Amino acid sequence: MAGLIARHHQDERAARAYLESALWPDGPVCPKCGVIDEAYRLRGETTRDGLYKCAGCRAPFTVTMGTIFEDSHIPLHKWLFAIYLMCSSKKGMSAHQLWRNLWGVDEETGKQKGSYKTAWFMAHRIRWALGQQPVASKLAGIVEVDECYIGGKHHTGKYGYEWSASGRPKPGPRKGRSPVENKAAVVSILQRDGEVRSKHVGRVTGENLRPMIETAVDTSAHVITDTSTALTAVPKEHKHSQVNHRAKEYVRHEDGVVITTNTVEGYFGIIKRGIDGIYHHVGKQYLDQYLREFDFRYNVRKLNDRDRSVLAIKKTSGKRLTLKQPKDAEREPPLPF
Ligand SMILES: [Zn+2]
Repeated sequence: MAGLIARHHQDERAARAYLESALWPDGPVCPKCGVIDEAYRLRGETTRDGLYKCAGCRAPFTVTMGTIFEDSHIPLHKWLFAIYLMCSSKKGMSAHQLWRNLWGVDEETGKQKGSYKTAWFMAHRIRWALGQQPVASKLAGIVEVDECYIGGKHHTGKYGYEWSASGRPKPGPRKGRSPVENKAAVVSILQRDGEVRSKHVGRVTGENLRPMIETAVDTSAHVITDTSTALTAVPKEHKHSQVNHRAKEYVRHEDGVVITTNTVEGYFGIIKRGIDGIYHHVGKQYLDQYLREFDFRYNVRKLNDRDRSVLAIKKTSGKRLTLKQPKDAEREPPLPF
């Protein structure tokens, strides 16, 4: 974490200027007609900060229009700081940690300022932005596909991580139930030296898996799985190799290709450490949100913290939200995977 807090993480004006330079590198873009750098800034005592008027279509607009920040009562600098914190922390950051970092403690009362719920809402909004994009390019080359089971811990801390519709923390599962029963299946599709796409599935079956591979993987790819039954459901167009984990086979070499699912299993290790260590207990209904965050961090792993958060900021635009916060935060659009 950076020792010094950047100006745009504590000052509203600086935050707006920062967002403008990130989203409008070539000058203000009119969200109505799309004209670039033809708008002029409106100034005046009654004019709100950052208001522009399009010289083409005469529409007034600001940089937050169509972003996840639009109509939010949370200051923009806190949003940008939250994005930075989430992007620069290796294993992710829980809403509870965000809460502490964004608001701090009231010096007189010693009480934590801000609200956990607002931090929770922000974290979910940001995760949604990180994953929200049509699968632009399909994965190609050597693609490893595997499943893992995560969560299932009975965690009922002071700040429950699972929220009921009323917004109160839900008690954990009843005692005496198997922890495995509560585990959630995750399928990840990972291009070696490339990107990963993960999704929570109710059950790992051939029927669930086949459309995921068809959507995410180019037919030219060489798909590698282990020999578990569901994972034999790779569409026929793909070249498909399997490692036989049951026979204790983990790596073999074939025509210069390393046949293994070790890369995707390493990625599962990151997810598990993150979710078990940081998020403790993730409600299954939110699992896809967390997976977007982990996938994003993995996919931009070669960038530094600053570039990674600028990329995340760019992903906040083009998200017209009709959601109000925080009670509607649970109605997330489905993952476009
Ligand atoms: Zn316009």
